[in-house]
Amino acid sequence: MDEFAIAPRRGGVYTGRMSILADSPVLAVGAVATAFGLLAAIAFPRAEALFVDRARGEAAGVLRLVVDAVDRSIERYAALPPLVADDPLLGDVLREAGNAGLVPFANEKLRIMGLSLGVSDVYLMDRRGMTVAASNYRRDASFLGRSFSYRPYFVDALAGGSAFFHAMGTTSGERGFYFAAPVLDGIEVIGVLAIKVSVAGIETAWPGTGREILVVNPDGIVFLASRPAFRLRPLAPLGEGQRARIAETRQFPLDRLEPLPLSPRVLAARAVAVTPEGARDRDAYLAVSAPMALAGWHGVVLEPMGPVRGRAAGAVGFGALVLAALLLTALLVQQRRQRLRLLESQVRARTTDLDAANASLRREVRERKATEDRLRRSQKELVQAGKLAALGKMSAALSHEINQPLAAVKSYADNAARFLERGRVPEAGGNIARISEMADRMAGISRHLREFARQPGERLRATPVRETVVKAVEIVAPQMRERGVRVILPPPGDEAEALGGALRLQQVFVNLLTNAADAMAQGDRREIEIGILAGAAEVAVAVRDHGPGIPADVPEQMFEAFFTTKEAGVGMGLGLSISYNIVEDFGGRLTAANHPEGGAVFTVVLRRYGAEGAA
Ligand code: ADP
Repeated sequence: MDEFAIAPRRGGVYTGRMSILADSPVLAVGAVATAFGLLAAIAFPRAEALFVDRARGEAAGVLRLVVDAVDRSIERYAALPPLVADDPLLGDVLREAGNAGLVPFANEKLRIMGLSLGVSDVYLMDRRGMTVAASNYRRDASFLGRSFSYRPYFVDALAGGSAFFHAMGTTSGERGFYFAAPVLDGIEVIGVLAIKVSVAGIETAWPGTGREILVVNPDGIVFLASRPAFRLRPLAPLGEGQRARIAETRQFPLDRLEPLPLSPRVLAARAVAVTPEGARDRDAYLAVSAPMALAGWHGVVLEPMGPVRGRAAGAVGFGALVLAALLLTALLVQQRRQRLRLLESQVRARTTDLDAANASLRREVRERKATEDRLRRSQKELVQAGKLAALGKMSAALSHEINQPLAAVKSYADNAARFLERGRVPEAGGNIARISEMADRMAGISRHLREFARQPGERLRATPVRETVVKAVEIVAPQMRERGVRVILPPPGDEAEALGGALRLQQVFVNLLTNAADAMAQGDRREIEIGILAGAAEVAVAVRDHGPGIPADVPEQMFEAFFTTKEAGVGMGLGLSISYNIVEDFGGRLTAANHPEGGAVFTVVLRRYGAEGAA
């Protein structure tokens, strides 16, 4: 380590050695920092250097002011002694040493001069250094009668030149600047006039802003200092020669010269921090020094490092904050971008899925359409086939319906011919009348077929129920006889009239009777019983046979057109359907049931004529 921390060097700023980076506060700050600790640790030295530079600039400014003020006041006082020494009274006092009457005048004159010049003391010494007159003649610790021959300013002035000296007063114990000039008698030096200026006023005028100001003499002793504790402290131990000289001139009391080493360390290329001995590391100062006009002297300003570092840390913190905000923003932007990219890829995937689904849908639609076309085609074919089947059934049914009366016509005609051959004209006429009836019936059938196409044009009228039944039985009588069927008619009595048409109602009964006979074809008991029951509003006709009855699974379909259980060409399933429609047209109903004692019962219920309003 350099011996003299603030040694009187040429040039302003102290430069030292790089010796203490190991325990640098920069690293300490870096350790404290959290997320941006490392970054801050890198940035802090730069920030510190920046703020140190700024602080050094400020300190240099202050130092220049201080040094200039000291230099100027010394210059000003240095001019005074020769002027005062010119006073004739002083020459008289020295020349007339025995004239005690002059001394009081001289003392008083010096006192007034001292007051008006604003200095501590003005005093006159003879050639031996003895004080013969002094401005402080009234004070106890007066210079009067004291010898200052040991002071260099006396020696210098006696040698004929102006003198300047600084020391701690041996009488007053106060630090002061001493200025001296010879008192001349012609060209002969007869004494010395000295002025002492107290330095306390200089220090109190310094700006106290937390920074320390030192004025250091050529021996490295702090002569002026803003902090009293620093005063009269050598910045480094004094050499033997120096101590001897100080003792000889009684400049300072040697026992007070306790060294005050300021440990320096280099902060950056051009700055030095010093720590006063005993002070903690964080109480370090930034040291700035400058030479004074006074030869060998220099001023020093110690700028506290704490605030400087605080400012640097604040700047770094702010920078870190800004950086954090920037990073956060960048992170958010990045995340957003990533999310967008993810979304895009999802959308792309979805689009691909959708395309695939679309394609398969289109394929399906195509297939459905093809299936539909096929179905429609086969439906058309089916309809065609159904039409053909219906046509077949229809022609079979027609021939069935027409064959019956045709067969009857043939047998009546044959009978009529036989009756005519035997000359039995009236019987032949009867048969011919029957033939005519058959023809009427066939015409009725064709009308019924039209009715089957649901064109009930006939107006409803009063129809004698029993008469119609009897007529129907007569029509089927030959057929019944042939098949060995006995038809039991209801006894004559109440001739109830129903609402309907005689011909069509007759057709209904013919159908029911024919069906009954068909049902009993295989049976032993071939009987058909017809019952008529007339109520107030309705007339019911029941046709019962002794056949096998209606199979359990048939009833619903039985009344549908073309439903038959008979062989092709025998029955074509139109009889019941036509009958059902006829009865319905009359406002009645046709129902089928099985008799508890066997056989089927078909019941035709008709509305009674003249009782339309009745239920
Ligand atoms: P078809 O006599 O030409 O078969 P119908 O419409 O008259 O046509 O009769 C339809 C069917 O109803 C018959 O095939 C038969 O199975 C049934 N059926 C009709 N009357 C009777 C009856 N009295 N006893 C049993 N079954 C009957």
